[in-house]
Amino acid sequence: MRDLYKREIDYMRISITDRCNLRCGYCMPCGVEWIPMEQILTYEEIAAVCKEAAKLGICKIKITGGEPLVRKGCPALVRMIKSVPGIDQVTLTTNGVVLREFAEELKEAGVDGINVSLDTLDKIKFEKITGFDRLQDVLDGIEKALAAGIRVKINTVLMPGINETAWKDMVLLAEKKPLDIRFIEMMPIGSGNGIASVSNRDVLRELENIYGELEIDNEVHGNGPAVYHRIPGFTGGVGFISAIHGKFCAGCNRIRMTAKGEIKPCLCYGESISIRDVLRQQGEQSADEDITEKIRKILEEAVLRKPKAHCFEERREITEMKKMAQIGG
Ligand code: SAM
Ligand code: SF4
Repeated sequence: MRDLYKREIDYMRISITDRCNLRCGYCMPCGVEWIPMEQILTYEEIAAVCKEAAKLGICKIKITGGEPLVRKGCPALVRMIKSVPGIDQVTLTTNGVVLREFAEELKEAGVDGINVSLDTLDKIKFEKITGFDRLQDVLDGIEKALAAGIRVKINTVLMPGINETAWKDMVLLAEKKPLDIRFIEMMPIGSGNGIASVSNRDVLRELENIYGELEIDNEVHGNGPAVYHRIPGFTGGVGFISAIHGKFCAGCNRIRMTAKGEIKPCLCYGESISIRDVLRQQGEQSADEDITEKIRKILEEAVLRKPKAHCFEERREITEMKKMAQIGG
């Protein structure tokens, strides 16, 4: 379905938990309060939302978190959503820590791709950024996913003074391995507000100093706003998601759902519409058609309430106060 600015909204990011097995300082600092389990949508409820979303033209779903693989039975959810008529693609974003254990099961469940968030290949820096010594587990998880035949993308957020030159090593992952590496500019959401964003333009310029001019790759790599380039001789592509230095809102194609069933029109604003109460009317006074109709109406309303653009450059206007781990990225 189209929003008020004629953008086709065909993609929904669904956070299935706010829990995580890492503590990336910019995303989930220590001391965050968990959502009580009974407030978190069940897999059946999530699948019911996907069913109505598909009727509105949402055909691509991203499962996110917190860390989605810490929620029991995540591959079963992938299978459930894959079987919803109208849903063409189910992908997952993970920190990769326990991916080794789940890669094959996810492949069997029909996952169409996995994004692994990894900000450095330096063991000490990894622990500094995430709070845990788990770099090798992530690297093993990536290998396992590739071996299982899953399309893999690596997402890297660069931070001044911490890992701002990590792009040098990270791009080399795409040299021999069939995976894309993407650089995501730090967004001023949650604890990311207050951390400067390394400009992707600068990263591209540095890469071009090494590899020569990098042509834009127009082949479709994914669902989002990444602009891809090819480094000659590399197997995978290099993508740039430039939320700050390259505003991409004109091409926005998404809505989001948090783990407790809040439908968010835009990442930047705190506004959301809760779908959970409607979902939980099932078996109560309302007829099932009433409920599915109400779910669809809420999704439609969220699409129609999408603002024209984010306001990351005018930070005072940002009204989203949640941490990114509570939204899902
Ligand atoms: N745990 C999973 C993971 O790490 O991929 C899924 C959830 S995490 C919130 C999704 C993505 O959001 C990660 O790639 C993370 O680096 C990114 N992220 C978190 N906070 C961010 C921020 N302030 N700006 C940009 N990206 C951010
Ligand atoms: Fe957890 Fe992912 Fe956030 Fe890191 S980025 S704290 S892995 S949710």
